[in-house]
Amino acid sequence: MARIVMKFGGTSMAGTERIRRVANIVRRHQEAGHEVAVVVSAMAGETDRLVNFCREANALYDPAEYDVVVSSGEQVTSGLLALTLQSMGCKARSWLGWQLPMKTVEAHSKARVDNIDSEALISAMQSGEIAVIPGFQGVSMENRITTMGRGGSDTSAVAVAAAVKADRCDIYTDVDGVYTTDPRIVAKARKLKYVTYEEMLELASVGAKVLQTRSVSLAMKENVRIQVLSSFVDENAPLADDMPGTMIVSDDEMEDVDMERQLVTGIAHDKNESRVVLTRVPDQPGAVSSIFGPLADASINVDMIIQNVGRDKGETDVTFTVPQADLARAQALLEEKREAIGYNRIITDAHVAKISVVGVGMKSHAGVAATMFKTLADRGINVQAISTSEIKVSVLIDEDETELAVRVLHTAYGLDATDEAA
Ligand code: ADP
Ligand code: ASP
Ligand code: MG
Repeated sequence: MARIVMKFGGTSMAGTERIRRVANIVRRHQEAGHEVAVVVSAMAGETDRLVNFCREANALYDPAEYDVVVSSGEQVTSGLLALTLQSMGCKARSWLGWQLPMKTVEAHSKARVDNIDSEALISAMQSGEIAVIPGFQGVSMENRITTMGRGGSDTSAVAVAAAVKADRCDIYTDVDGVYTTDPRIVAKARKLKYVTYEEMLELASVGAKVLQTRSVSLAMKENVRIQVLSSFVDENAPLADDMPGTMIVSDDEMEDVDMERQLVTGIAHDKNESRVVLTRVPDQPGAVSSIFGPLADASINVDMIIQNVGRDKGETDVTFTVPQADLARAQALLEEKREAIGYNRIITDAHVAKISVVGVGMKSHAGVAATMFKTLADRGINVQAISTSEIKVSVLIDEDETELAVRVLHTAYGLDATDEAA
């Protein structure tokens, strides 16, 4: 017998027929003797619809009221799943964020879990009741509804798993695990049996949306075992205890299970970046600080930065990227500071994509970046900016070349599935 938290994403919860399939998976795990809590997302597309309502109602919406609206999608699916489980003869009830309570801190629409009062939840689970918890939502210290950022149900699930000391957190989605790259883009992507927390964290943060970045850092901190697996299975599919999906493991565990690791574990892409170029910035101390200081003060996240070789007259061009959602704000801010910074022109381009290769093998092996640049150059793909970390190399390219770049890099690093494995 184990204590497990099962999380089901939007596609898994899209409509009563799909919810019945989810309920069947949950019921089978409980019948196998497990104590079960379930965390659910809103139906696919529902959160987008609710966000649009807020925008239509008031373009400058109050984030606290936004949270009231957008958290409602999960309230619906948690109630529907509890009802469906009851119709199958299971004991089940929903626990909304404020009922648990799941206390959060920091800003509305991007709140962080602070603590979960798990006592009542654990005793309900021990009594054989299935706890159904809406993901994404919590309650602030001021007793108002909060949400935890898009994709936040993954983080809710990990937080619940940590609070109830679950043996495992199974994240059910519409693919059967974590792949070497998005399997919807590269048909030859290979499913990974194991991936380390560190690699998953890096992959998620550079665009592999299969897990929310925060859920991975929380799991790493709280030592929560995560498995990513598919809810799109037939009625008698093996239970999650057989580990059909991808396990997120520590470095030490990885050493034991996979001795022949590839240099590169995965490739991710992100089309939500945009590029900003400031021309003829004075090439002198304090210049870059006058650009990036105001952006940081406005909470605009700058990712890649390049300062070009100085021009003749003590001037240089500075190129950097900001999230597309913040581009208009960044541009307005920089235009306002034009005299103080002293640049000539501002050029922006939202038609770019960031491609990243990730792998802990990079720590001890040189040449990963060189392979990346050569592979892209051979295909005539121009690199507009570069950034690196200990286990990652990212490049910025034209958005139209995203799929091609991911595919050729996937082949270049030897990640393509062979026919037998595919
Ligand atoms: P959910 O609604 O279940 O939370 P998401 O849409 O958030 O699901 O995440 C699942 C999707 O993540 C998949 O459909 C897949 O297209 C995408 N994805 C991106 N990169 C990867 C990857 N490396 N491995 C698996 N899936 C990936
Ligand atoms: N429903 C929320 C979203 O679409 C949270 C989630 O599904 O994880 O972002
Ligand atoms: Mg998701």
